[in-house]
Amino acid sequence: MVDVDTFAIGEIEVTPVSDGTCKIPPEYFPNSDWTAHQALLGPDGMVTAQLGCFLVRLPGGRVVLVDTGVGPFDNALFQGGRLPGALQAAGVALDQIDDVVCTHLHADHAGWLVQDGEPFFPNATVRFGRADWDQFVTGGDGPEWIREAMLLLAERGRLDPVDGDQVEIVPGITARFAPGHTSGHLVYVLSSGSSRAVLLGDAITCPVQLQETDWGAISDVDPALAARTRAALLAELEGSSDVTVAAHFPDLRFGRVLAGEGRRYFQVE
Ligand SMILES: [Zn+2]
Repeated sequence: MVDVDTFAIGEIEVTPVSDGTCKIPPEYFPNSDWTAHQALLGPDGMVTAQLGCFLVRLPGGRVVLVDTGVGPFDNALFQGGRLPGALQAAGVALDQIDDVVCTHLHADHAGWLVQDGEPFFPNATVRFGRADWDQFVTGGDGPEWIREAMLLLAERGRLDPVDGDQVEIVPGITARFAPGHTSGHLVYVLSSGSSRAVLLGDAITCPVQLQETDWGAISDVDPALAARTRAALLAELEGSSDVTVAAHFPDLRFGRVLAGEGRRYFQVE
């Protein structure tokens, strides 16, 4: 479990919560040379990353969960199952979550949506990029259990897919179309007053990609598009006052993207 305090974005409160950890092997980034980044690799030769989710409390009391982790899985790559305890520790009951917004429908982001044949968040509307329905549900990509979960939520009238770019899904949270990792991948921008935070999902997997900008991810459905999306997001974030974090960053702390000495780096707030 991560131990990160609630972070204020103006009047919005964001609490990073984690479903556990996952192991990312170096070859997840095709053609990567880790010589300069050995410190990121653990004794097992892999990066230990979070299965990150973000609990967002909006002014007025609306509660939104961004991403849901992998669910109760514990295998060589995913050590999940912690999200319910993390939400409880953050003081939120499952039935208090009004909206669940997924950056995309990979199993490590949509894992808890349905458990035992029932919606796990009993009162939540679930939002995601519509093109991910085409990739994962009708298109047949990804595991059968995610497809079944989405079909169940559709049958129960719980889905509200997001179409297009720059869509304000609830006051204070805007979905931006950031495709390439998946067909419908979204990043979510939280804004309150002059403060902004960008939740990157898997548009960027690991902070090392700020330095190694040509490192893609083996799970990108469209590597060239993912690279363009990543470059555009980083160019926008670089030097701005916006804070950002991605779902698999090692400790889920918000930071700023800074540039200096010919490279970018991530400075934790
Ligand atoms: Zn992921």
